[in-house]
Amino acid sequence: MTRRRRVYEGKAKVLFEGPEPGTLVQYFKDDATAFNGVKKSTITGKGVLNNRISEHLMVRLTDIGIPNHFISRLNMREQLIKEVEIIPIEVIVRNVAAGSICTRLGLTEGTALPRALVEYCLKSDELNDPIISEEHITTFNWASPQELDEIMNMSLRVNDFLSGLFTGIGIKLIDFKLEFGRFFDGDEMQVILADEISPDNCRLWDVATNEKLDKDRFRRDLGGVEDAYQEVARRLGILPEGGPSDLKGSSSMQ
Ligand code: UDP
Repeated sequence: MTRRRRVYEGKAKVLFEGPEPGTLVQYFKDDATAFNGVKKSTITGKGVLNNRISEHLMVRLTDIGIPNHFISRLNMREQLIKEVEIIPIEVIVRNVAAGSICTRLGLTEGTALPRALVEYCLKSDELNDPIISEEHITTFNWASPQELDEIMNMSLRVNDFLSGLFTGIGIKLIDFKLEFGRFFDGDEMQVILADEISPDNCRLWDVATNEKLDKDRFRRDLGGVEDAYQEVARRLGILPEGGPSDLKGSSSMQ
């Protein structure tokens, strides 16, 4: 087997050149990081679960007309995606106060927000992903006003849809992070949803108990990280066939 060209390696994923021009293979690692890489560990089976969870959610979003980079799942840890030019912004949508907004604005974690709140951060590890305004985004040309409009509309639609989907399986969608990219098809350019949607970048609380079923279990040393990710997959009805024993998957990146 010929070795594939590695295009990019991030904290939780690796991107390889895809089989066709304009495609990439997205490989999900078990590596977990928090606080901009200061805290590091491995969560066994996380890559396999995030690959499945993100596939499931992206396919459901395609069904309702939200364009995204997902093409197909290739195996336990890899999916085929459309190559995009990533827009250097993290879009955060919040329904309930948690995490950084609590420290920033002195809110109590768990307080419901009066309406869905969209925040933007600059994707920059060196600068610690600073929060930015729409004015910064258009002034520095990170996205055009029209692109930003589309990003905001899509993000709110994703929030409405995912909030309903998770409520149906007893989970509250507290907040999440999205990334978007420019997909070029001949002369046409379209802004589409990229990256992943998984417990790594969503806060998910059990409706009845408020138990955290997401990466905060890792960030805050709450234990039971694997179980929480598995529980999300189980409720979505997509736990790998072999159950937990099937979660390691091959970690070969050939
Ligand atoms: N988030 C993310 N990547 C980041 C920052 C945040 O996926 O680099 C997600 C995070 O998992 C949460 C939401 O975005 O679901 C809001 O995160 P917050 O701003 O509260 O930051 P944190 O408390 O995670 O530092």
